[in-house]
Amino acid sequence: MPREGHVSLEDLNWEFGCSTDEGALHLFTEEENKFRVEFREFVKKDVLPVADRIDKERNFDLIHEAVRKMGRAGYIGVSFPREVGGWGKGLVYQVIIGEELSAASYAVAVTYGASAVLYAMPIVRFGTREQKEKFLKPIMKGEELGAIAITEPTGGSDAIGGMQTRAVKKGAYYVINGEKRFITNGSRANYILLYAVTNPDVKRHQGISAFIVPTDIEGFKAVKDYELLGRLGSVNSHLVFKDCKVPEDNLLGEENGGLKVLMEGLDSERTFTSSQYVGIARSAFEIATKYAAERVQFKRPIREFEGVSFKIADMYANIEAARLMVLRAARMIDSGLSATKEVAAAKFFSADMAVKVCLDAVQIAGGIGMTKEYPLERYLRDSKMGQIGAGTSEVLRYLVQREIYRKVVGG
Ligand SMILES: Cc1cc2nc3c(=O)[nH]c(=O)nc-3n(C[C@H](O)[C@H](O)[C@H](O)COP(=O)(O)OP(=O)(O)OC[C@H]3O[C@@H](n4cnc5c(N)ncnc54)[C@H](O)[C@@H]3O)c2cc1C
Repeated sequence: MPREGHVSLEDLNWEFGCSTDEGALHLFTEEENKFRVEFREFVKKDVLPVADRIDKERNFDLIHEAVRKMGRAGYIGVSFPREVGGWGKGLVYQVIIGEELSAASYAVAVTYGASAVLYAMPIVRFGTREQKEKFLKPIMKGEELGAIAITEPTGGSDAIGGMQTRAVKKGAYYVINGEKRFITNGSRANYILLYAVTNPDVKRHQGISAFIVPTDIEGFKAVKDYELLGRLGSVNSHLVFKDCKVPEDNLLGEENGGLKVLMEGLDSERTFTSSQYVGIARSAFEIATKYAAERVQFKRPIREFEGVSFKIADMYANIEAARLMVLRAARMIDSGLSATKEVAAAKFFSADMAVKVCLDAVQIAGGIGMTKEYPLERYLRDSKMGQIGAGTSEVLRYLVQREIYRKVVGG
């Protein structure tokens, strides 16, 4: 017999996606909305049921299986060119995927994202026909995974200035030596999009290049996987490259043109990651909202106390604001506009918002919010990553103010 005021997760009967407001949906096209509805059904069937297990068991196999299912259903090719069998769709489709996946499992979203967005999209933009055939197609099925390796022990926020990994041209090969850390999918990836210094004698941003490195190459080693606070089950690795001979055909873009490859995609990739924080916050909000309607204290549902219900109103407004900022950034990029300020603002706003929303959701759930009876603590742990990955909230604030002052005072 259920005890009055005691709300188990089963009693809560949480309806995934119930808060996606009609008002926000009006801003997407009919076709985009159709895609969201279809993709949400996929997530409800193939990702949500395993989301808690992935976290509790730190189960990468379940994550990879979810990514494979995405591949089989064709979703990994959404933004890939039609010439390799993709859908040729823009960033708006990726932000729908990012939000819906993260609303169920951020661990699946980051594994998919590192492969199908961060690794793949620069190849879509800069790859030769042969590179697309060879290095995109296998990723589309979800069987094989990609990763992107920029960060090093000496280069985090200052990734370019602190880069020490070297690639030296020898005949038809580049010989690569160096270390990369915090690389999502690192030890499980089949291919790594690696940035390395090719000319140490010029300013660093003029002397780096991008390479596609197959991980079965001699001299490559994933030396450890990090234990993380959140996104448990996903893989994040420290990589070492020792005299790795990479064929010159695996150079992506031009030699010493690595910054262009990196920068052209950075805004899209940050927009995609921002959508993940909208998804995390949305689910925490939905659970907390339902819980507040059903949990009884002082003989009343706790939603009747303003200390609770005003939190719900604030959470709603902030999630909607973040979703609109992310959508605006995606639309600007899809229209070929420069959107660095809008993207950076969307990224730190949605990341900070998700941490606050998840904290408030745990607060509304009280003691049960601290337990693993409810997934709220999982969403809270996952949300923290948004303020660190793909540009910290501090670095993004720096970019926003710089763009503002360029307009206001020039230079
Ligand atoms: C789980 C996880 C997954 C990741 N996945 C990848 C990946 O797939 N590929 C990849 O290449 N990298 C990846 N990263 C690396 C990530 O992008 C970096 O951690 C991030 O850019 C910050 O770099 P750092 O950790 O070296 O911190 P630091 O740069 O050392 O920063 C430390 C602190 O100083 C602050 N700070 C630094 N410079 C400034 C400044 N100018 N003004 C104000 N504050 C400043 C930062 O905001 C931060 O709070 C991942 C990291 C994690 C934790």
